[in-house]
Amino acid sequence: MAVQIERTGMLLIISGPSGTGKGTLVKKLMDCDPTFRFSCSVTTRKPREGEIEGVHYHFVSDEEYERLVQNGEFLEHATVHGHHYGTLRKPVEEMMAQGYHVLLDIDPQGAISVMENAREYVSVFILPPSFEDLRIRLHTRNTDDPVEIERRLRNARGEVKKIERYQYAVINDNLELAFSQLQAIVSAEKQRTTRFKPTISEN
Ligand code: ADP
Ligand code: 5GP
Repeated sequence: MAVQIERTGMLLIISGPSGTGKGTLVKKLMDCDPTFRFSCSVTTRKPREGEIEGVHYHFVSDEEYERLVQNGEFLEHATVHGHHYGTLRKPVEEMMAQGYHVLLDIDPQGAISVMENAREYVSVFILPPSFEDLRIRLHTRNTDDPVEIERRLRNARGEVKKIERYQYAVINDNLELAFSQLQAIVSAEKQRTTRFKPTISEN
């Protein structure tokens, strides 16, 4: 018997409150798993220090964002913490057609929109150990001013209520444990018969 494998891509949605560690976990996954491609979102937020156009985000004006909305170029889009964010449909479809798994780091509004419209997806909600830890992480990250941090913490209370819409949840307390749990989810999802198509021949 000989077995040949053809794999189809997964759309992996990672979301959760700001500061919970999504970006950290996404980077770790991207660094160790070459079967994934990151979906670089469009945003009207200003770049933070160290953020690179086309790597972290495509930074656009309000006018350009509106043009993309009107042209139907987004798979999903949402206003998050007062800025606009969106996932471009075409690159996601192209990467999946090439057999890659595609990773979306998006907020719960966008995640629910994808879950309601996509044929297949894997959704993971990343929880902080506590709201106090979230506050400390946002301050320690030092990328947002105190007013912005308070806004993100207020929004976090509503965001965690959406957890039951997701298939999986990971508590990011100990980073290595959280990452190994994320890897276990990814590893099991890769082995689904719907994604892992073996052709079995007699010889
Ligand atoms: P998000 O992408 O969800 O907004 P980040 O990945 O930027 O969050 O993480 C927010 C901050 O918390 C960063 O400074 C990051 O280094 C830190 N962090 C991430 N995971 C942990 C963890 N398990 N324990 C402590 N700090 C963490
Ligand atoms: P930040 O400004 O900290 O980079 O991101 C703020 C929030 O926007 C995070 O929850 C992040 O997941 C979310 N986000 C980033 N890109 C997108 C996107 O394309 N669509 C949606 N809906 N949310 C996004």
